[in-house]
Amino acid sequence: MAGRRPLKNDKHTAFYYAFTPKEMKYFLFGKKICPRCGGKLIRHKTYETIYGSMPFKDHADRIDPRKVKHHIYVYSCDHCRVTFSLAELAGEQ
Ligand SMILES: [Zn+2]
Repeated sequence: MAGRRPLKNDKHTAFYYAFTPKEMKYFLFGKKICPRCGGKLIRHKTYETIYGSMPFKDHADRIDPRKVKHHIYVYSCDHCRVTFSLAELAGEQ
């Protein structure tokens, strides 16, 4: 498309959050307890970068998907220091 400037190093062109219903349920209501040791889980926000595609096609015409930031929540145990993805804790992996 015309008029698009070259990407800068750390700049993303779009972003999204994605939760499965199970992940959303855990995120909102789940007990944030370590499955290994029973310690307290601390939430962290991180992201991965996806190049050239968006998972939601309905807005594709308004989104530049060259460098998409996928925001992700992970949980790390206060006690044993193991990190778990939301999918793992929600029982999806
Ligand atoms: Zn633990």
